[in-house]
Amino acid sequence: MKESEVKKIAVFTSGGDAPGMNAALRAVVRTASFYNIECYGIREGYNGMINNDFIKMGARSVKNIITEGGTILKSARSLEFKTKEGRQKAYDNLVARGIDALVCIGGDGTFTGAKVFSEEFGIRVIGVPGTIDNDIFGTDNTIGYDTALNTAMDAIDKIRDTATSHNRVFFVEVMGRDAGFIALNSGLATGALDILIPERKDSIEELFETFEKAEKAGKSSSIVVVAEGEKLGSIYDIAKATKNGFPDYDIRVVVLGHIQRGGSPSCADRVLASRLGYGAVIGLMNGQNQVMAGMQSNRLVYTPIEEAIKKHNEIDQDLLKISEILAI
Ligand code: ATP
Repeated sequence: MKESEVKKIAVFTSGGDAPGMNAALRAVVRTASFYNIECYGIREGYNGMINNDFIKMGARSVKNIITEGGTILKSARSLEFKTKEGRQKAYDNLVARGIDALVCIGGDGTFTGAKVFSEEFGIRVIGVPGTIDNDIFGTDNTIGYDTALNTAMDAIDKIRDTATSHNRVFFVEVMGRDAGFIALNSGLATGALDILIPERKDSIEELFETFEKAEKAGKSSSIVVVAEGEKLGSIYDIAKATKNGFPDYDIRVVVLGHIQRGGSPSCADRVLASRLGYGAVIGLMNGQNQVMAGMQSNRLVYTPIEEAIKKHNEIDQDLLKISEILAI
């Protein structure tokens, strides 16, 4: 068999779920179907691979899912796949079905697992970046990020209404794990007074200065967006320190949490997922292996999984500056 020949593939979603994973799955299944490649879905990520939970998929199995959040294949975090024995079971199940290659929709953990697996057993793998955190190198955006960003923006807009009505200070925590992309962009989009992200060294003193400036400027309410990975401390610690510094402030803390993962994917996420799902199958047909399909400057690119995991997209420093200037 030529390296580029693929006859049977399997696709799965793994790690944290993200809106648009279904759209990506649809694109993978239908592209495979178009090119007469047999396609299996694996339920619950690596767990399903180990437990032999495969389902044959065709163009009609993915009908009506482009609008749906979550993932119809379900996702899971699999401890067993981190063991050699677990991966051996998974490989045996793939061999029994004659599967040539895997399309792995997930985040960096999913890609790390795929790379280990591919190096160990020689199975061909291609990644599709599906995570709300946008923390994957090799693509300008990950699938789910835009939807999560819009969910965070809508929620913070609503908080602004109540903040203004009561002259309150709100600290709002958004998701993103160790990355501040959701915080930075949702903060800019909602006109936050300050944005605390792990990529920048923040201090309580600077935060206090910002509050003092805001008071002088006549602001009576404000919103501070805090990334979940912020290094200054937990959002509760930051709020407590602020209360100590400004006892008169009426302070509230809101942790947006899992609503950011849900909902129907945005247009941008559906388009991205469709392009990357298609790109993954085309990549496999062209002999790609251990790479991730991504979009950079509106072009489909393949980045070695090794790089996608190890390197990081930088925060745009201009955005931080713009948000400071616009918050005066
Ligand atoms: P998100 O960024 O949204 O959390 P993720 O893909 O990074 O998604 P993880 O839970 O980190 O989510 O990884 C998904 C799964 O990948 C793990 O549950 C595990 O089964 C597998 N995995 C991660 N790291 C390894 C590894 N070093 N070796 C084998 N498998 C791994």
